[in-house]
This record gives sequence, structure tokens and C-alpha cells, in this order.
Amino acid sequence: MVSQQPGEALVLQERETPRPGSGEILIKVSACGVCRTDLHVVDGDLPRAGPIIPGHEIVGLVEAVGPGVEGVAPGLRVGVPWLGHTCGCCPYCRSARENLCDLPLFTGYTRDGGYASHAVADARFCFPLGPGDDAALAPLLCAGLIGWRSLRMAGEGRAIGLYGFGAAAHIITQVARWQGRDIFAFTRPGDGAAQAFALAQGAVWAGGSDEAPPEALDAAIIFAPVGALVPAALAAVKKGGRVVCGGIHMSDIPSFPYRLLWGERQVLSVANLTRQDAREFLDIAPRAGVVTQVTRYPLERANEALADLREGRLTGAAVLIP
Ligand SMILES: [Zn+2]
Ligand SMILES: [Zn+2]
Repeated sequence: MVSQQPGEALVLQERETPRPGSGEILIKVSACGVCRTDLHVVDGDLPRAGPIIPGHEIVGLVEAVGPGVEGVAPGLRVGVPWLGHTCGCCPYCRSARENLCDLPLFTGYTRDGGYASHAVADARFCFPLGPGDDAALAPLLCAGLIGWRSLRMAGEGRAIGLYGFGAAAHIITQVARWQGRDIFAFTRPGDGAAQAFALAQGAVWAGGSDEAPPEALDAAIIFAPVGALVPAALAAVKKGGRVVCGGIHMSDIPSFPYRLLWGERQVLSVANLTRQDAREFLDIAPRAGVVTQVTRYPLERANEALADLREGRLTGAAVLIP
């Protein structure tokens, strides 16, 4: 399913099965999660060069390996995340911050992704997966990984607010509960279904983003692409608290009084992931007993899945099955 032009619906195309180049593997896709970033790619919120196959939560079986690939054999089940390649030599790569690489490739954005029957990936940026259903594992590869990096960035506090209760929040709530923390879930005002879903995942409180939580928060993570939530979250965190923006794109942040930031509160963003994040989180998810809630769509109904995500009709994560 190809995004030809920003703002247009994806188009089903028949292409020849790609061949893995040097250092690459060919994967037969068994499931690919639908992430909010895919909406930003498809809608044109993120600049891009030309047509692209979206999808960066790929689960599949290795079908062929290119020259120079070691330690990966056909038949192995792997996951492919957003970070598809790094240069290895820029100052960021050389200081364990490859998520900020100056010359990266991103799966489903600057290299073709997993809304397809097959995908080619850099073998060094794929991860063997443990047991579990293909579709259930797919959301771990971005919602889980970015959620995990966001939770780490939020610090060690107990009371954590999550703004936007979609795929990432439902995974991270389970991890945070396992760590002994309390999750306060903020949804669109009046979205009783999302609030009930948050409580079912283990949140101790759920309410609208226009409401104040019952106690001051140690930190908040904003997953919804809504800039107005930044001052709202700042108003909800304690002195010294952090507000972590977990998404790649957000509407403008409105101006706000300095007193909301005063008290050594911090606002920061989370960009991409490192392979270390992936290894860490893929180890933690089964130990934390993470169970994802997914809605399956046949690959050719990708536009429907994107529309359901855009309109907030999903509970949990959408996953495409080729
Ligand atoms: Zn680099
Ligand atoms: Zn994503």
C-alpha cells in the first residue's frame, strides 16, 4: 500500500519482490502495526521526497539474507522498528545517541516500510522476537519502544500522567504498573470509552484532558499530537516535574505564563529510539506481562485503519495483516 502524494489515500500496487542488498534482509511480513506517525507521513505533516510504503512496526519471517549479513538466517522471526539505519560515524552515533543520527533512515518514511507483503531492512536494525502472536507483537515495535523511552525520560517518579490513551499509553500503563507506579490517564474530554479502557489497563485515575488529576503528578507524557496539552500538563506536574512530548509532530504550543514552568519543571521531546532501547524494551515487555489490544485489518484496508486512528475510533492499536 503506497502513499504516492501527501494527503492522498494509499494505493494498492503490485511490485516485484525486492532483493536484499549488502547487509540487508528480505522479510515476509506477517503483521505491521499502524502508528500515529504513519498518519503524519501520509497526511504530509512530515516533509518527504517521494512515494513511500509506510509502516514501521513490522513483524515477519526472514526470507532471504543479502551479502555480509551474519547471525540472521531465513526462518527467523524478527521485528523492524522506526530507526532503520544510522551512519555510525556522526557525533551522535559516536556518543550512544544514535536516535539523533545526522544521516538516519527511517522505516516507512525514508525507506519503504511494512504496509506490504515483503520488506527489506538493514539486518543490524532488526530484532529477534520472543513468543507471541504476530499481530499482538507489532505495536511493541513503536508504541512500545517510544513509550518506553518516554517513560524513562519521565524520570523515577511514582505519579505519571499520560495524555492521549492510544497504543503507546495502553502498553506503557502496563509497564508502569509492573514497576509499581501510578498512571493517571487523560483522554479527549467526554471520551468515556477511552477512560474505561485506561482503567482496565491499570490506570488509577482517568479523566478528560481539561480536568485536573486528583493529586499533583511527578511527570507527564504527552502522546496526543496536541500542543495545547503542554501547558495543561505543566499545570498538573509538581515542582521539578517533567513533561515529555512523545510524538514526532504536534500542533503549535500556545503561549503560557512562565509560572507554569517555574519551579524547575522541564519540557522535553523524545526523538526516535536507539537499538539499546529496543533490546531493553523487548526484554521487559514479556516480563511485565504486557498484553496488547489490537484490531486487525487486511492490508488492502490500510486506508480504513488510518481513518479509524485519525478519528479516534480505535481502542488500542490497529494492525495490518497482508
Ligand atoms: Zn549518525
Ligand atoms: Zn511509530
